[in-house]
Parts: sequence; C-alpha cells; structure tokens
Amino acid sequence: MLKRIPDYDLSPRNTFRMKAKCTLYIEYDSVKDLEELDFDALPRPLLSIGEGSNLLFTRDFPGTVLCSKIAYLKFFDLGLDEVPVAAGAGVKFDDLCARMCAEGLWGLENLSLIPGTAGAAAVQNIGAYGVEFKDIASGVSCFDIEKRCKCSFKVEECAYGYRDSFFKRPENKERYIITGVLLRLSRKAAPRLDYGALRSFFPEGDPVSPQEVRDAVIRTRREKLPDPLEIGSAGSFFKNPVVPKEHYEAIVAAEGVTVPHYDLPDGSVKIPAAWMIDRLGFKGRRLGGAAVHEKQPLVLINVTGDAPAADILALEKEICDAVEQRFGIRLHPEVEHL
Ligand SMILES: Cc1cc2nc3c(=O)[nH]c(=O)nc-3n(C[C@H](O)[C@H](O)[C@H](O)COP(=O)(O)OP(=O)(O)OC[C@H]3O[C@@H](n4cnc5c(N)ncnc54)[C@H](O)[C@@H]3O)c2cc1C
Repeated sequence: MLKRIPDYDLSPRNTFRMKAKCTLYIEYDSVKDLEELDFDALPRPLLSIGEGSNLLFTRDFPGTVLCSKIAYLKFFDLGLDEVPVAAGAGVKFDDLCARMCAEGLWGLENLSLIPGTAGAAAVQNIGAYGVEFKDIASGVSCFDIEKRCKCSFKVEECAYGYRDSFFKRPENKERYIITGVLLRLSRKAAPRLDYGALRSFFPEGDPVSPQEVRDAVIRTRREKLPDPLEIGSAGSFFKNPVVPKEHYEAIVAAEGVTVPHYDLPDGSVKIPAAWMIDRLGFKGRRLGGAAVHEKQPLVLINVTGDAPAADILALEKEICDAVEQRFGIRLHPEVEHL
C-alpha cells in the first residue's frame, strides 16, 4: 500500500539524526505500488532510501523520498549445496543474516549487524570482515522509472567495486529502484575467518557454524561501533584510500613506524583511514555537536543528538585537511552527502 506524506520530517529516517524535511515522502510495499505511482507528478529530484544509515542530510531535500517496505523472504532448499535466497529490498539486512545463520546457511555471517536494508546493500556493495555483498549475490530486481517496468540485473552487470555499484552512477540513481535481491548461500561449511579479530575466536581446524561466526562478529562490532539506536552516526565516514606502492613507502619512511595496509592485486596499497585519523590524535575530538568516535576514529558521531550538519561538515573538513597535509592523501567520504 502506498503511504504519502507531504512536508515530511526525515530525522527518524536517518541514523545520523539530521533534521531535514523532504517535499514529499512515499512508502510502498510492493512492485504493484510502484507501477501505480504517477512518477511524472512527483516533486523532483527523487531519492530512494532504506534506513538512512549511509546518508548525511545537509539541508532539506527539495523532492520526493521513496522508502521501500517490500518485505518478502524466500529460500529454496532443494537439497543441493547451493541455496538460492530471495529477499525484498525493504527487509532489514541483519534480519536476513539472523534468519539464514539460524537455518545453518553460509554466506551472510560476516556481514552481521550492518544496519540498513537488503536493497541498499545491493547499492552499497556493503562489506565487513573480508566479505562483500557481491560475493554472495547472484542478481538484483529493480523497477525502471524511465520505462515504468520491472527489470533485473545479474551480479556481473552491477559493476561492483569497493562500496560502489552501477546503481550509484548519477544517471542510474533516479532511474532504478531496487525491489529485491537474489543471493546464493551454501549448505557447505565455508567460514571466512582470516580478517580482523575473527580468527582469535576460533582455534584453527575446529568445526564452526554460521551462527557461531555471526555471534563473534556481533560481539566484535558491539565492542567498537556505536549502536545507531543510542548514538547518531552513519558508520564509517571515510573510505579507505588506495595509493601507489611508492606513496605508501614514503609514508612508512616519514612516520618511522609500521603502517597497517593491504596489498592489492594491481600492486597498489590500501591504507586504513582510521589509522591516519588516529595517528593525528583525532580520537574523541569534538567540534560543536559532532565528534570523532572514541573507539573507532573512522566514525563521526552526532554526540549531542541535535548536531547541525554544519558541525559534521566542519569536522570532516578539519580531518581531511589534516590527513592531506601530513600524509599527502585526500580522504573521500563513504557517507552520501545530500
Ligand atoms: C553503526 C553503523 C555501522 C555500519 N557498518 C557498516 C559496515 O560494516 N559495512 C558497510 O558496508 N556499511 C556499514 N554501514 C553503512 C550502512 O549501514 C550501509 O551503507 C547500508 O547498506 C545502508 O543501508 P540503508 O538501508 O540505511 O540505506 P540508505 O542509507 O537509506 O541508502 C544508501 C544508498 O542506497 C540507496 N538506496 C537505498 N535503498 C534503495 C532502493 N530500494 N533502490 C535504490 N537505491 C536505494 C540510497 O539512495 C543511497 O544511495 C554502517 C552504518 C552504521 C550507522
């Protein structure tokens, strides 16, 4: 059923808790709703949202916000190793993880507790603990606003990269609404434990279940990330930069310490932005109502609960300028600014 609310307050719809209004807010719970919607009559621009956990509203949104509540969840266990799973775009991604881990299916456990919806996971190519959405996805179902019809994309067609996809391209943002995702999960044990702190939970060689990995991921995340229900944030604010090997070596020489990094297959090097921000002493830094999280410096928080976007933007600029001056790298936000 379609729900329309004009002049809508978006603060409960974004985890940063920014105060912003949109001209029109629409909730829908089926593809049929989208087929019936008169898109020509809607205030533009259009913005699809899920739980608003990767968004920073810097001002009122002068158009229509479309929020998916499409909530089906089906899985087809045919007794084979591979189990296809279909979920509506409005399903909470962590509910999907919880349900599939409880079924003993492998694939989603490392992505546990990431806020947001299944639809947005396909836009963002969400990732954690060495796994990305693209690794377990087989396809994405959409509604094409331009042609007013359903369409679908195979995972190979989605141009997935680091927190990036075909759906993030400016020409596609107002064209495709994601209505569902298709995943390929597995009955066969496939734990991926070689990333971050996960290995310490499981001695090498011991059998482990998807639920146990999920529990370990949840414990680790709860220790260092703010709970969006308690404190406003949009998770990692900056992307981890990728630099040529020589640039990384110059940083190591200048800093005179071990610099954490990941060597990429093309010879370039990814450096954790959190390490650079921490090295500059930003942990806990406060600017008005904004702050750098005490435990995870990649996360900026709305510490007072009513911080204006200007405070977040000022802190962002301060960090970007300082990192550029010291390391010669300009950080780019992972959080989408609107
Ligand atoms: C505490 C915290 C921890 C986090 N940890 C992680 C993490 O470990 N890994 C990670 O990758 N991310 C993480 N995030 C970021 C965030 O959870 C993800 O980006 C998530 O996928 C956003 O989902 P959402 O439903 O809130 O999307 P929104 O923020 O509402 O939207 C995100 C993007 O998707 C688009 N979009 C949303 N729904 C649709 C749709 N149906 N059709 C078309 N476009 C759509 C929006 O236009 C926007 O571009 C974290 C965030 C928080 C607050």
